[in-house]
Amino acid sequence: MPYLDEHAHLTPATVRLLHAVSRVPIRLLKDCKVYPAGRNWLRFPWYSKRSGGGAVAIVDRIHASDRFFVEIGNDTSFLLLLAHEVGHLPHAENYPASTLGRTRFVLWATWQYALSLLRNGKRWHRKARMEQEAERGRWVLRQLLASSGDAAAKELLGLVHTNRTAAVGEWLAARSSTIERLHAEYPGWQ
Ligand SMILES: [Zn+2]
Repeated sequence: MPYLDEHAHLTPATVRLLHAVSRVPIRLLKDCKVYPAGRNWLRFPWYSKRSGGGAVAIVDRIHASDRFFVEIGNDTSFLLLLAHEVGHLPHAENYPASTLGRTRFVLWATWQYALSLLRNGKRWHRKARMEQEAERGRWVLRQLLASSGDAAAKELLGLVHTNRTAAVGEWLAARSSTIERLHAEYPGWQ
């Protein structure tokens, strides 16, 4: 399975790429685990596809729609989803990875969305501050792939899929100024 190892951790090549586009600390990316949501589809309002979801991050775990675990092809949808979800890891950094810690994080997130509902109405989900921050990684990755051209984008995805960490690092290093510029231009989740 590309992106994940057999223990549900992000592969080193995936960590390298997601760190560059999201600026989430490597240590948080290495610690996080990604699981299929399973039949017990989590009942968080922000989990719905309609609100741009397909996954939810709770402290050190990301639960993603089962479809991402069965239909891995060359498409980038799972990688783009991960690039957003890892952006939530820093939000939960100070919550312990325990049942109580996860419950407290969910309560905190619910409160953030409730505040956003008061301020932003129908656009409460993406306009919540935590979503604005988390979207950075997906936006930068999407722009980076688009601006690099098909061949280079394909090359990068191939390197990530085959977990060639050093080669991913070189690919990114060759485009470091573009990546810097994209971070500076990130407009927030529109
Ligand atoms: Zn989010």
